[in-house]
Amino acid sequence: MSHPTNIFDLAGVEGLRKSWRLDPQAVRQVRTLLLKRGLGDDEALACVPAERRDEFAERVALHALTLDRRCDSGLDGATKLLFRTAAGMLIESVVLRIATGRTTLCVSSQVGCAAACDFCATGKMGIAQNLSAAEILDQLVQAKQLLAPEGRTVRNLVFMGMGEPFHNEENLYAVLTALTAPELFHHPASRVLVSTVGLPEAMLRCVRRFPGVNLALSLHSVRQETRARIIPLAKKHSLDELRRVVREANRIQAVDRSSGPTLMLEYLMLAGVNDSLEEAREFAAWCEGLAVHVNLIPFNPIDDAPHLAATPRPQREAFAAVLKAAGLPTTIRYSLGADVAAACGQLVRRENRARAMATNAALREL
Ligand code: SF4
Repeated sequence: MSHPTNIFDLAGVEGLRKSWRLDPQAVRQVRTLLLKRGLGDDEALACVPAERRDEFAERVALHALTLDRRCDSGLDGATKLLFRTAAGMLIESVVLRIATGRTTLCVSSQVGCAAACDFCATGKMGIAQNLSAAEILDQLVQAKQLLAPEGRTVRNLVFMGMGEPFHNEENLYAVLTALTAPELFHHPASRVLVSTVGLPEAMLRCVRRFPGVNLALSLHSVRQETRARIIPLAKKHSLDELRRVVREANRIQAVDRSSGPTLMLEYLMLAGVNDSLEEAREFAAWCEGLAVHVNLIPFNPIDDAPHLAATPRPQREAFAAVLKAAGLPTTIRYSLGADVAAACGQLVRRENRARAMATNAALREL
């Protein structure tokens, strides 16, 4: 028996449908219930005539991941979902239930990450494997299924989980295409955010191809030396180059979207590393002439980086005040789900490291 065709595969499922002489409406309904409304698998499959239902379920895969466990925050409305890939690795997605009723899903694009940022537990995992487009999309499908009984759905989708999305560029574009396709999720591009540590060429390719999708650049410092210290990839790309890319992205997006361009600049606040008021002034100067919105992010300490600490709240506020005084739209973010981030994050790292080591050992013995 060949591998099942994925529910997101328009041509593949269409081929099966024709061979079964199935009404196109049945496939449309399965996708509407599953991908758009987040109903359960059985409810979605009930749209297929009974005589074809078992075969459909066997030949068309509705999921690419297995939900391993969920961790609900005791502090706020965050839920971390741990999924197992077909290769047996664990990945995580985070559901953020915002008080306004809006819900955001943060998805992973890789297992581990080669960018190896100093402040990031994923970067310290020592693994980097790309997720398939179906594995990325299934995080959304299963999150919607979890939320539907609560009367919620995923409003915003952000690529801020494990991985650097532009290191998995082709699959990222397949995902963005499927997300916005009317036959599949029909998710507005304006409610998708791709966050990158700063790969200039890929950022431009993405903006040109998907001008409606939002971009976030993890800047974290406008001093080259500081940035390169906490983001090893920054050694390859100067701040001048990134600034040119932001300006070009602003230009392209201004042409292509009615709401005007705004690129997010993420700034993780690390005590004594990048949080002086002098750096705030340099940051404001760097942003002059750019259409950007700054998010100041609190740091959640990780065991693998005991030398890094979070900027105390008064200093964060003073830093924000400098940016705002310079006319820069600035938001101080508060982290949601800090308790589940710590508990589940550690589990993911431990299991994946053990599995990667076991696989490497097995390969060495071949
Ligand atoms: S790019 Fe993102 S996921 Fe990768 S190491 Fe840096 S912060 Fe972590």
